[in-house]
Amino acid sequence: MAGILEGKVALITGAGSGIGRATAQIFAREGARLLIADLVEASGAETLKMLKDAGAAAVFMRADVAKAADAEALVAKTVETYGRLDCAFNNAGIEGALAVTHKCTEENWARVISINLTGVWLCMKAEITQMLKQGGGGSIVNTSSDAGLLGVKGMPAYVASKHGVAGLTKAAAIEYGRQGIRVNAVCPGPIRTPMMGRLLLDRPDVEESFVRAEPLKRMGEPAEIGEAVAWLCSDRASYVTGLPLPVDGGLIAT
Ligand code: NAP
Repeated sequence: MAGILEGKVALITGAGSGIGRATAQIFAREGARLLIADLVEASGAETLKMLKDAGAAAVFMRADVAKAADAEALVAKTVETYGRLDCAFNNAGIEGALAVTHKCTEENWARVISINLTGVWLCMKAEITQMLKQGGGGSIVNTSSDAGLLGVKGMPAYVASKHGVAGLTKAAAIEYGRQGIRVNAVCPGPIRTPMMGRLLLDRPDVEESFVRAEPLKRMGEPAEIGEAVAWLCSDRASYVTGLPLPVDGGLIAT
């Protein structure tokens, strides 16, 4: 049976780790041809090898999503390689330093906003420009978070950036609906990735509190986000746009 992304060309950022890597593997399984991007050459190369070993069509490019030239180069490389761009998963992000609002430094604020929010916008700019040029629509999914829908203590820049991503997603969805470009966001709950590992370091009580708060009584796995992203990018979600979709074990419902 054909995969739900058969024949589609997709760009995935932050694909060297966690949610991005798992999503790239699911996209490959579903038949997409991929341009994967990450800041770090070595981790991107590792994901590329996994994809190639599984028989996928994939290319890796190093990029810093916070730089406009890099975002534009990612789209240009995708088009040079495959001739078009159908789907994009703007997922690269950082957690930043933990500190309550009045202790958050300007440096931390600027860094988190530049990668998590400006980076998503710069990638969208380049992707939408290409999708409009080629015609025929497209599907973009951005990574927000439950922290893009709720307040979380100790990470004000992260929470602001993820709320920004949810808002930007809705704004673009209404701007480009007429041209058939769907724009959605995934809002993961606590997912077992290297980022979450850094946040939980030496704090087993925090993991326990996540699990206790979760209706499904467990943390999520990266592939559980990837499955939702693949569906949103596919034609099966053809009437879904402007949605910040919680994929969080029901946390947002509590
Ligand atoms: P992760 O394992 O740390 O993966 C994030 C990836 O993004 C890493 O490969 C990282 O590269 C890359 N990256 C960071 N800055 C970049 C930049 N400027 N340009 C290009 N790539 C960059 O984290 P994850 O948990 O999979 O997170 C993926 C996304 O999900 C993030 O946007 C995160 O905020 C969001 N999210 C995660 C959770 C969770 O519980 N894990 C929950 C909600 C939302 P290096 O690390 O190699 O530098």
